[in-house]
Amino acid sequence: MKKVIFLGAPGSGKGTQAQRLAERYRIPHISTGDMLREAVRNETELGRKAAPIMKSGGLVPDELMIGIIAERLKKPDAAAGFVLDGFPRTVAQAEKLDELLLGNSGGGVKVLHLSVPDEMIVRRIVARRSCPSCGAIYHLENSPPSKEGVCDRCGTALVARADDTEEAVRRRLEEFHRQTVPVVEYYRAKNLLLNVDGTVEPEQVFEQIEKTLS
Ligand code: AMP
Repeated sequence: MKKVIFLGAPGSGKGTQAQRLAERYRIPHISTGDMLREAVRNETELGRKAAPIMKSGGLVPDELMIGIIAERLKKPDAAAGFVLDGFPRTVAQAEKLDELLLGNSGGGVKVLHLSVPDEMIVRRIVARRSCPSCGAIYHLENSPPSKEGVCDRCGTALVARADDTEEAVRRRLEEFHRQTVPVVEYYRAKNLLLNVDGTVEPEQVFEQIEKTLS
């Protein structure tokens, strides 16, 4: 059973790496950002609440996020393990997750922190494109799709995320430092934190992750 939590700034590569890891271990990739974007697309009540917050680069309230993740972790596919991407983002979320995982056969969690300096982040994010259908992520210079503007995996037209503007990216980075760096420290204090250098090529990052987890 593998339970992996991915922490990292926006644009650190956590989405790409979390997706690969989930495929490798055949466990679900649980991305709260993807879940919220789907809710926005489907115009659900959650989507309507979350859309303006996400667009500005802020964080969706803890109560909402905790509710979403509690429901998701109850689904049978999560019993065999999971890769969590984008949750927890605040210490309150991390504490709640501890409680939820106690009910889910406890311990065994590994926390990966992908570290990338802020200067690299904005450059990376502005060149990012993603697939609104399957969640695959591309970078216009480093890892473009084989056919321009189209997802390699499912053929859907690629989009730039609504919150990948420079202004929203700066706000997301601020939120990361203010709210999520304390989460990194929370897991470090529990001796669960595994640091991975996120500045190298995606392939090398993945090798490091596999080595770190084995
Ligand atoms: P991500 O795809 O992980 O970068 O998430 C995109 C946006 O969704 C974030 O900037 C937040 O507005 C929102 N979001 C995703 N996960 C969370 C979370 N755990 N807590 C609060 N907001 C979140």
